[in-house]
Amino acid sequence: MVTMSGPFADWVAAADAVRATTKKLEKQAALARYLATLDDDGLRVAARLFAGGPFARADERVLAVGWTALVEAIQERAGAHGEAIGASYQRHADLGDVAAELITTAASDPRPLTLADLAAAFDAIAATKGSNAKRALVRALVARATGAEARYLVKIVGGDMRIGLRESLVEEAIARAFGRDRQAVARANMLGGDIGEAAVRAKHGTLEGAAFARFAPIGMMLATPVLELAEVAKRFSAPYHVEDKYDGVRAQVHKDGDRVEIFSRTLDRVTDRFPELIGPLRAVPGSYVLDAEVLGFEDGRAIPFTHWAKRLGRKAVTADLQAELPTTLFAFDILERDGTALIDRPLAERSRILRSLDLRPPLRVPELRVLDLGPDELPAELEREFAAARERGNEGLMVKDPRSPYRPGRRGMEWLKVKRPLRTLDVVVTAVEWGHGKRRAVLSDYTFAVRDEAGRLRTIGKAYSGLTDREIAEMTEHFLAHTTLDRGRLRVVVPDTVIEVAFDQIQESDRHDSGLAMRFPRIVRLRPDKPVSEIDTLETARSLAAVTERERGSGSAGPSELDESGARRERPKRADGDRAG
Ligand code: AMP
Repeated sequence: MVTMSGPFADWVAAADAVRATTKKLEKQAALARYLATLDDDGLRVAARLFAGGPFARADERVLAVGWTALVEAIQERAGAHGEAIGASYQRHADLGDVAAELITTAASDPRPLTLADLAAAFDAIAATKGSNAKRALVRALVARATGAEARYLVKIVGGDMRIGLRESLVEEAIARAFGRDRQAVARANMLGGDIGEAAVRAKHGTLEGAAFARFAPIGMMLATPVLELAEVAKRFSAPYHVEDKYDGVRAQVHKDGDRVEIFSRTLDRVTDRFPELIGPLRAVPGSYVLDAEVLGFEDGRAIPFTHWAKRLGRKAVTADLQAELPTTLFAFDILERDGTALIDRPLAERSRILRSLDLRPPLRVPELRVLDLGPDELPAELEREFAAARERGNEGLMVKDPRSPYRPGRRGMEWLKVKRPLRTLDVVVTAVEWGHGKRRAVLSDYTFAVRDEAGRLRTIGKAYSGLTDREIAEMTEHFLAHTTLDRGRLRVVVPDTVIEVAFDQIQESDRHDSGLAMRFPRIVRLRPDKPVSEIDTLETARSLAAVTERERGSGSAGPSELDESGARRERPKRADGDRAG
């Protein structure tokens, strides 16, 4: 067996010191003092354990040891009854603390545990499939531990460290132990996916050489919302990179050799959900890491998310489902290419590299508009871009600073997202119409109203249903039974169905008898919980129109872009669309 200098008891003493204080600097100092004493192998293991896991983040192995196996091991080592464990757990609500309390005798095995012993045990546990064999390994490990050691063993194996130690603090301690820059340690840890390796690099002064670990997702850069277009110019100066903001799910794609993996925003592996993307991604030569949005896309426009998203809930992504709700990946950034990490390069350069990849459908890159405009001209141009993006079925715009690096996991001012603040009104359905295409046989188009001062219903808009097929079918039955006037295509119905409608703006219009109309109305959900007496009033709608009026003063769209079904009907293909205007 390899020899490692570190007795586990020393690690435990440092962890106890961290637990004993709430002061960040004291925690940091205790850790730094201890880390500085270790050799490379010990340092690697110790740092990973402080970060709370048995393995490096980039390491895909898991221990998969259940709660009962841990309880059993504690029971056996402590010679305690189940009741004693239960009572102790009531007091601590932490199995590690239970172990520390109940294990009071010396271990029968006199050899003290070392960091090397722990590393070897974790390797063995992860490699063992059968649950009995796994349990035996856990019991053997705990059998050698003192109470103080067992506290942390149990916490680490159980996957719940909670000793008041964030990973950033471990990074700071590493930097302090070896006199390095904290950011450089954080960068090496993030790229390499291994705080143990970052610690060893810090020790040897080789932090700069850290490489991007394959198949270890890194945090995704986030955007800050802007509520008014005029705000953009205050955040950074021209030029601006402008792209559509696609409404789908975030995806980080790692590719190396024949292997492709897709990770979600929460860094979970979701490769299996998008089988149709894997072949095309694999076909792109070389290695790379892409930042992307995955969404439904058909005939050159986005499929409304609420519609497409039903495939996300399915366990098996069948060929039928793929054909019905096809998936496209829009790659908007590249973080690694053929072994070179690109996150420190400016967006303009990353964007060039991204666009030099030969991506073919269903892989795409967003169309890039570079706006080199001053604060006076920018808002009007962004307004046009925004309206065009909405026309294409997208959520809005992303405005990015071409000089900016990629900042993993950060929300900054270098990526701005422009969507309208979502507003909704609760309204009542007054009339319904038969749908088009697939929805020919259901009443899917709703006209709805708010209540005026005199208590009368006033029509304010009309929208295609954003409800599920099942809800629409149920509502169709309901409306057929509650029709007061059948005019063929259109049926006036008993006003008893309350729905929540979202829109971007409300403006004055003579289209409806309320004197108002909505821009981009879409039905969010049924509100069976809300009585008709409680729907929103015309007064509320008017005050929202006043907000719109103020926004228009700062350069928004004119009334020609007002809602709704009239304009949308010209696009027969997406007659069931429920988001876009
Ligand atoms: P939010 O989730 O509201 O913070 O908005 C940012 C999200 O927009 C990202 O997480 C992406 O999932 C998504 N998105 C869509 N299109 C783009 C794009 N062109 N660039 C960056 N993010 C995008």
